[in-house]
Amino acid sequence: MKPTVVCLLCFALCSSTTFSAETGTLRGFSTESSRTQRDWESKFRAIPEPANMRNYMERLAARPHHVGSPYDKDNAEWLLSKFKEFGLDAQIETFEVLFPTPKERLLELVEPTKFTAKIAEPTVATDPTSSQRQEQLPTYNAYSTDGDVTAPLVYVNYGIPDDYDMLDRMGISVKGAIVIARYGGSWRGIKPKVAAEHGAIGCLIYSDPRDDGYFQGDVFPDGAYRNKDGVQRGSVMDMPVYPGDPLTPGVGATRDAKRLDRKDVTTLTKIPVMPISYGDAQPMLAALKGPVAPGNWRGALPITYHLGPGPAKVHLKLAFNWDLKPIYDVIARIQGGTYPDEWIIRGNHHDGWVNGAEDPVSGLGPLLEEARGFGMLMKQGWKPKRTIILCAWDGEEPGLLGSTEWAEAHADDLQRHAAVYINTDGNGRGYLEVEGSHTLEKFINGMQKDIDDPESKLSVWKRLQFQRIANPPPTNPQDRLEARNRPDLRIGALGSGSDYTAFLDHLGIASINMGFGGEDGGGIYHSIYDDFYWYTHFADTDFTYGRALAQAVGTSVMRLADAELLPFDFNNLTDTVRRYVDDVKKLANDKRDQIIERNRQIEEGMFAAVMDPKHKLAIPPKEPVPPFLNFAPLDNGLAALQRTAQLYDEALAHANENGGSALARAALREANAKLISVERALTLNEGLPNRPWFKHQIYAPGFYTGYGVKTLPAVRESIEQKQWKLAEDEIVKVGKVLENAGEVIQGATTELGRSIK
Ligand SMILES: [Zn+2]
Repeated sequence: MKPTVVCLLCFALCSSTTFSAETGTLRGFSTESSRTQRDWESKFRAIPEPANMRNYMERLAARPHHVGSPYDKDNAEWLLSKFKEFGLDAQIETFEVLFPTPKERLLELVEPTKFTAKIAEPTVATDPTSSQRQEQLPTYNAYSTDGDVTAPLVYVNYGIPDDYDMLDRMGISVKGAIVIARYGGSWRGIKPKVAAEHGAIGCLIYSDPRDDGYFQGDVFPDGAYRNKDGVQRGSVMDMPVYPGDPLTPGVGATRDAKRLDRKDVTTLTKIPVMPISYGDAQPMLAALKGPVAPGNWRGALPITYHLGPGPAKVHLKLAFNWDLKPIYDVIARIQGGTYPDEWIIRGNHHDGWVNGAEDPVSGLGPLLEEARGFGMLMKQGWKPKRTIILCAWDGEEPGLLGSTEWAEAHADDLQRHAAVYINTDGNGRGYLEVEGSHTLEKFINGMQKDIDDPESKLSVWKRLQFQRIANPPPTNPQDRLEARNRPDLRIGALGSGSDYTAFLDHLGIASINMGFGGEDGGGIYHSIYDDFYWYTHFADTDFTYGRALAQAVGTSVMRLADAELLPFDFNNLTDTVRRYVDDVKKLANDKRDQIIERNRQIEEGMFAAVMDPKHKLAIPPKEPVPPFLNFAPLDNGLAALQRTAQLYDEALAHANENGGSALARAALREANAKLISVERALTLNEGLPNRPWFKHQIYAPGFYTGYGVKTLPAVRESIEQKQWKLAEDEIVKVGKVLENAGEVIQGATTELGRSIK
């Protein structure tokens, strides 16, 4: 139904109370069961305690707890005991994964002067855990290959493909060189991958103070931001190919699993790579000569940024222990009463790079309070209809190891039973940002209206709406209008970067990631300073946002577990996919127009004419004009999706008549099973081109962006990479996927109609 002017006014003026009063009945519940549900949810939301989350953090972040460390195992056992203390069935599942740790690290400038990099983060007197030198993992990038290289240095900005195009035009090659890239612009693992593709033999990644340091704010311990010796550790595994244990792609890394030989693994880097601080980077960058870096390549160090190559020459030597290490997933289970074979899964990792207070414990504390809350409600007589599984994952930091191995080990069961996966990974202050499957967008909006923001006392939904009205993206100013008028706030799409990846991208399980953020700047990510001291001085210091996160996730889990009919919605999905289809059409057109225009500029002699003869740039070669692509299969698939989504809504409206009494009576097992399989229908077993592990056809992490999402990835990336024939083929495949999903929705409609007769 089109909203009338009166409705729009109402939306603008009356806020959430009017909206929820109008639709007091929860989606997928009868009026009666909705009332009972809201009672249980209110009881639940009164339970989470900030003081408990503070205590959990003090305990879990007390010592370094990376994969393979004594305290990682100790934490897993403690988590197990907490789940049991709360009255839940719980156990630890163990896998054995390849996890390299440094044996030797050396970085020195050998020409024109000598300088040996510190590659260490010093103890800060006021920060007690920063002195735990014995147990701290050194600064390094996990899954870098071993290497001993000496070569001239080249500065490559963020080290993404566009940067190398620019270097090409400036006549600078990185062949045989060691590149130095700054963090940002892409996920870190992309930098050594692209550097190696261009012939570099080593890669340094540093945190520039413009992006991560004093340019952003006062540095630790005076402020929250990265100090000159702070280093961002992190994985450089080629996760856009497949995440998880590099030796066991597609299967669980159990003790007797069949393992690849390390030399056959495709997800390790081709060249040695190491992260460094801006304290260590500055002398090396200052020793570069050659052209001055383009304006937008310059950071905030007090030097003139040059590109090289040389005369700075560096020596990088890295050797790792390539050991198998145990990881400990802690899994708690609450058996469902009515639909025990339908699972709602909720997870957050427990391993950190060092003490890991913000990442991950600030999201794990809320999970524990949810578990405690569910345990208390069960003692009062609450029994979820569906089975709830709570997971504290190990090994997220090196490569989503714990969640991926668990998902691969239980793939068959998960594909049969898993309805939804909800993830968090750390928490801060600000707005409740949610990303995930658009089949759940409407559901998430409903939940957000029932959670209070700790600072403003508005609902987190209302506060997020105001934020979007206040700050629409500069590229899309019309989003302000949409934030005001669209009944649901949009949720973002998921790329990668946390434990939802295997569930969504590999198994096709509708997934959600959420957390508060936007008011919690800082610069301790993956350093020894991400600890209890930092978090309780600079982040959600009173843990009230921790409580709000527990309330938001707990309410979501309960509502999904208790709904008579799973609250998926397909109109928002269709609306979102339509935007993605428009996007890829525009991308193809823009690409074509750009190539035509540039070819013309080359013919006209524009490049030669505007060039500063003292700073020569190569004239780019002319390119063949791309063909027009036929997008009709995508349009047809979309039309099928749209039709079936509307029919499903009509059937649901019918089921909701008379207070949903039909819903309350019906056996909905078949309808729910069909609803669960809609997200599966958005996958293809053959996966994406060149990366079969990634099966979802609507969302994927970008091959050259890492964490950043690519929607309609097969189509979008083949256009971006100018593979026009592949693009045509993928359009046909994805169109068919949309049609198939439409058929599954139609099946759900039929089952719903049958069961409420
Ligand atoms: Zn994390």
